Amino acid sequence: MATLPSTSIILDQASLDRLQARVRGRVLGPADAGYDEAHRTWNVTVQQHPAVIVLAESATDVAQAVRFAAEMGLGVAIQSTGHGVVRPADNSLLVITSRMQGVRIDAEAQTAWVEAGVKWGAVLEKTQEVGLAPLLGSSPDVGVIGYTLAGGFGWLVRKYGLAIDSVLAFEVVTADGRVRRVSATENSDLFWALRGGGGSFAVVTGMEIELYPVTTVFGGNIIYPAAHAKEVMTRYRDWIATAPEELTSSIVLMNVPPLPNMPEFLRGQSVVMVRGLYSGPIEQAEEIFRVWQDGPEPLANLMHPMPFSEVASVSNDPRDPMPSFHTGGWLNALDDATIDTLIRFGLSVNGSSPLVLTEVRHVGGAMARADRNSTAFGHRDDSLLLAMLAAAPSPEVYQLLHQYTEEFKRELAPQLADHLYLNFAEGAEARARTRDGYPPEAFERLVALKAQYDPDNLFQYAFNFPTVDRAG
Ligand SMILES: Cc1cc2nc3c(=O)[nH]c(=O)nc-3n(C[C@H](O)[C@H](O)[C@H](O)COP(=O)(O)OP(=O)(O)OC[C@H]3O[C@@H](n4cnc5c(N)ncnc54)[C@H](O)[C@@H]3O)c2cc1C
Repeated sequence: MATLPSTSIILDQASLDRLQARVRGRVLGPADAGYDEAHRTWNVTVQQHPAVIVLAESATDVAQAVRFAAEMGLGVAIQSTGHGVVRPADNSLLVITSRMQGVRIDAEAQTAWVEAGVKWGAVLEKTQEVGLAPLLGSSPDVGVIGYTLAGGFGWLVRKYGLAIDSVLAFEVVTADGRVRRVSATENSDLFWALRGGGGSFAVVTGMEIELYPVTTVFGGNIIYPAAHAKEVMTRYRDWIATAPEELTSSIVLMNVPPLPNMPEFLRGQSVVMVRGLYSGPIEQAEEIFRVWQDGPEPLANLMHPMPFSEVASVSNDPRDPMPSFHTGGWLNALDDATIDTLIRFGLSVNGSSPLVLTEVRHVGGAMARADRNSTAFGHRDDSLLLAMLAAAPSPEVYQLLHQYTEEFKRELAPQLADHLYLNFAEGAEARARTRDGYPPEAFERLVALKAQYDPDNLFQYAFNFPTVDRAG
């Protein structure tokens, strides 16, 4: 049996049975076998104690769960993989979507319908079989919905835009327990809000997305010793200034953990990496990357043609659950002083930096060309997306990482924007700084739509749009 927080809401067995009679998926209370396993998250720093869990199998299950939560005065939390928990689901009715695994591809129309529990890897596999690609991010294990609702930046972002720009329709359950279709022509205000606003407005049960003809790409990493960091970063800044939209890239400072699963020549080393993916003719890609044949000698040049189905090898994100800490922001420029600060805080000299990875992704392109008002996502003019990542095996390390990255950000302040990408913010930070995720007009519109669609703040475990009479 789980250890419950002192403020715990405990539902009696009769209530749990009543809910079970209304849904096909399993209902689990804290005393049930499987409860602890069911609410476990990919990011194991998250500890949570829902009042009840529903392993939903359909939109109807989700609708029944939402109605039950409203009747019982519970908030509704939603979890697919637990990669991006915004607020632990304490005392909630937690809807787990991982049993909703439907994926339907329409190769002719170049679209896919995906259910709420699907991870990007499954969509990638099925779409590549017919020569198409979705706009997934760096990890195939991230859930399609959580990733998409906040924006969704992947290796095709400069060519085809954000994941939200490719959504054609959602099926959702709103706070009144109704299943609705949401698109440019149906509930269009909600369509605007869901594309960028996160999980605060409805539970998404399915999503129709556009696909793109992407098969062979050119990508990977060029790895340099830390000693060349300044030169490589300066060259990178000049390189991206004229980069075509086929190229989405990043510059990475990495303190490679001394773990057996790391390549031996990198284990325990600090390195700087040029990372990227070119989706266009391979000869053009080789031409674009030729510039890296001059300059410092890399430890390894792993850029190569590859099927897009292997895109996860570009970032090689950790797959097993881990205690993850992440935060980030937008940089206005990679000027010399910013590069110096990134190196000083991002690269470890005798253990000076607790971070594993500091990455600046060069985005923009198609993302910047989309209509400013078409979605709630607002910061389309930004192009340098900063992420800082580390392992946080204990609360003390988590706290240390928080302090370190706050100092890092203060030092970056001259070029660090005052707004951020909420999917790259740590959970508490995403709730505390939700306002900073949007331009002021978009935030005000989201607050108004929150009051309209979820006046009782049922969906209170996501980004924080204060409703009229409560703080959320
Ligand atoms: C290893 C790793 C790599 C990443 N790479 C990228 C990347 O390349 N680009 C990028 O943009 N982001 C990236 N992210 C961030 C990622 O997109 C977010 O963490 C995202 O929230 C994960 O979604 P999830 O469904 O997997 O996680 P979950 O923790 O299950 O869900 C996160 C939140 O999404 C909302 N949500 C999930 N499902 C639903 C639903 N059905 N209806 C309504 N709300 C829902 C809820 O608010 C939930 O709290 C990465 C994260 C990790 C850990």
